[in-house]
Amino acid sequence: MYVPAPERYDSMTYRRCGRSGLDLPAIALGLWQNFGEANPYETQRDIVLRAIDLGITHIDLANNYGPPPGSAERSFGRMLAEDLRGLRDELVISTKAGYDMWPGPYGNGGSRKYLLASLDQSLERLGLGYVDIFYSHRFDDTTPLRETIGALKTAVDSGRALYAGISSYSAQRTLEAFAIADEIGLDLLVHQPSYSMLNRWIEQGEPSLLDVLGERGMGAVVFSPLAQGMLTDRYLDGIPEGSRAARQGPLREEFLNDESLSHVRALNDIAEGRGQTLAQMAIAWVLRDPRVTTALVGASSVTQLENSVAALDHLEFTEEELARIDEHAVDQDINIWAARSSDL
Ligand code: NAP
Repeated sequence: MYVPAPERYDSMTYRRCGRSGLDLPAIALGLWQNFGEANPYETQRDIVLRAIDLGITHIDLANNYGPPPGSAERSFGRMLAEDLRGLRDELVISTKAGYDMWPGPYGNGGSRKYLLASLDQSLERLGLGYVDIFYSHRFDDTTPLRETIGALKTAVDSGRALYAGISSYSAQRTLEAFAIADEIGLDLLVHQPSYSMLNRWIEQGEPSLLDVLGERGMGAVVFSPLAQGMLTDRYLDGIPEGSRAARQGPLREEFLNDESLSHVRALNDIAEGRGQTLAQMAIAWVLRDPRVTTALVGASSVTQLENSVAALDHLEFTEEELARIDEHAVDQDINIWAARSSDL
């Protein structure tokens, strides 16, 4: 029987999500990879329970996380039932719909039909009556945005979600989503974009996505701050067995080329100079901007998670460090979500 650590709220930092009333942990755990049927349940459970002991109150899911799709929600549903029964009100649990989930015309995209059916399926797999945040996982240019945002409002009004969010929408699409949400009386709580030292799209453009979020008081939960593991010591000496790159999944081998690895090595040297690991510096770096609420990390072991959370011990940067980092924090064309969302 799991008993949460009594001191779990002592060392975590909580940041207000935009201009809402909701605090989120500066570091949250996502179950995209490593929490499907291919991974031992005991390891998954160890990581999640350690996260909670470290004060991580926010666990992020989506309908399609696994693999196979749906299995991460089932797995976390089991933890909720067996270990976390008394902790529901201490947790912020999010899920999403937007990518390919089931066959036929209603299992993908941004339609009302898909989003609400998917949310019901997620609740079933999780064994929950509601999730805290329900996201439109991506902008769908074949569906009127009013329909997608309207479905998010129904999710909230019907009590299936407490808050609504959007993920990977460009600055322009985010402004459009805001206009519709304002009109229909929905508060959009949070945006979930990719962001890391090797993928800086949310800083770019006039206005940038970060500008839009800051002005509108919407929180930013930024995902893949470690660039799926590239911004760690994982690939400094080749591709280790069992790593995400070795599994030929979303971390494509071609991302680990001479140019990107030379930047990673230089960043690793700067991190060492700061007395922290590259993973820790990568997390601290995304959190340097107050418009970023949370760094949303993944982990395949408890050790990785503990290492990442220790980023909170040293979040400050000198101007000189930031300037040195800028020389190597250069986009590496690794934003695999752009073509299906933020570029539209
Ligand atoms: P990430 O934190 O950039 O990468 C996690 C991977 O980095 C781990 O699986 C592990 O790789 C490695 N790692 C983690 N901590 C480490 C450490 N301290 N030292 C060395 N290596 C370390 O994030 P991500 O897993 O790509 O994404 C995080 C979460 O963001 C997802 O779970 C999901 O919730 C969310 N997300 C959302 C979207 C969206 O469209 N909204 C898309 C992607 C992700 P190995 O597995 O190789 O050990």
